[in-house]
Amino acid sequence: MRNKSVTYYSTNLRSPKVSFREALLKGLAPDGGLYMPGNIPEIPADELEALSGKNYPEVATDILGRFLFDEIDRDELYNICVNAYRFEIPIEKVHDRNYLMRLDHGPTASFKDFAALLMGRLMQYYLKIDDQHITILTATSGDTGSAVANAFYDLENIRVIILFPFKEVTELQRKQMTTLKKNIQVFAIDGKFDDCQKLVKEAFMDTSLSHIRLSSANSINIGRLLPQSVYYFYAWSHLSGKIDDQVVFSVPSGNLGNLSGGLIAREMGLPVKCFVISTNENDEVPVFLKTGNYAKISPSKNCISSAMNVGHPSNLARIIALYGGKMNESGEIIQVPDLQKMRKDLFAVSISDVKTKETIANCYRQFGLLLEPHGAVAWQGLKEYLKQNPDPDAENQLCISLETAHPAKFSNEIFRILNFIPSTPDSIGSKSDQEEEYVSLNNNYNLFRNYILKNS
Ligand SMILES: *Cc1c(COP(=O)(O)O)cnc(C)c1O
Repeated sequence: MRNKSVTYYSTNLRSPKVSFREALLKGLAPDGGLYMPGNIPEIPADELEALSGKNYPEVATDILGRFLFDEIDRDELYNICVNAYRFEIPIEKVHDRNYLMRLDHGPTASFKDFAALLMGRLMQYYLKIDDQHITILTATSGDTGSAVANAFYDLENIRVIILFPFKEVTELQRKQMTTLKKNIQVFAIDGKFDDCQKLVKEAFMDTSLSHIRLSSANSINIGRLLPQSVYYFYAWSHLSGKIDDQVVFSVPSGNLGNLSGGLIAREMGLPVKCFVISTNENDEVPVFLKTGNYAKISPSKNCISSAMNVGHPSNLARIIALYGGKMNESGEIIQVPDLQKMRKDLFAVSISDVKTKETIANCYRQFGLLLEPHGAVAWQGLKEYLKQNPDPDAENQLCISLETAHPAKFSNEIFRILNFIPSTPDSIGSKSDQEEEYVSLNNNYNLFRNYILKNS
């Protein structure tokens, strides 16, 4: 009854198309490109409207099932979604039809939990079928590592090795990784994030490790992208569920993974009027949309919305592919995408740190709405969009801004602006008194390699 199988192509177009399972376990395509679904399943209006009233795991099963129907049993997929999504997804009304969706109630209080939780469980599902094992290697500057560690914790057939720069992560970020133990091994490297990244890259290229199946869990994996389209459906179905209601989503953006999920949702039929790409002062995407010229920002600027300090978004190649263009691994545009259509669908805006802080202050005073820097960038981006696009037909317009981290993770910044400390959710508060376990390691590949070989 359903559509045909979904296959995945590489944005570099020089690798064969693969199944979801292969794209998930491989990560990067052999030609260095990123996997994208070749045929995106479309959802008829009545089936979209039927999402109303469903809970999150049900919506996730429905949406993801349209990609995976021939690769995973539907009951199994539902069980995976129920097991992964055991937290609330509050959608708060701010004023009129303007809402804030909080994607920050997961185990590490970051929206990255949505993707990582599902990706780990899907990997486990496929690995267990043929009793294969995988070792996930990840370098982190803080947030990604903790989301991956928590999402993959205690999964069978998966060993996780995380490297972090000892002096560059906060105590909370460290504890979110080091208090887990079991299948999560953590290395504190005496070096910078780039050194950690280099050690991981060296391991991937080391042929003497080829008997160990290594994989990465970074944001370019298609297994992290598809789950990020689900909350867009959930938000719309929860607030309206009527096909005539057009949504404007504002997405706080760095590597554009979150946005890519949204674009896939729209391709599937979700009635989205516009996506606001809200960036901090790293404005290469707003400049690109405006001028058609793309230039990386290197080094990227340090802004208070730290997870968005990205000078060359890793998912930009995917978005350009969706609009008929092509970008290679070095970030050069080989074929220009349909810029006119991009400008119609997307509104990109850069928000300064000064404005971000002002937004945190104003939203709290005006609406009692507590935002952290990433969510504030999105909220202000939405305001700029509405200023420039006053809607004549506002009754059918719904605006939803995404909050991607819990304010408690930015308590210093919030204290400076609002003069109080936000309360800490249990998920991250309970880490403070647990015992940590990690190995301190010099920035030396051979030492690291010995650890990979040990117990593998
Ligand atoms: C990763 C992250 C972002 C940016 O998401 P992208 O998918 O990289 O655009 C925004 N906010 C927070 C809190 C994040 O951790």
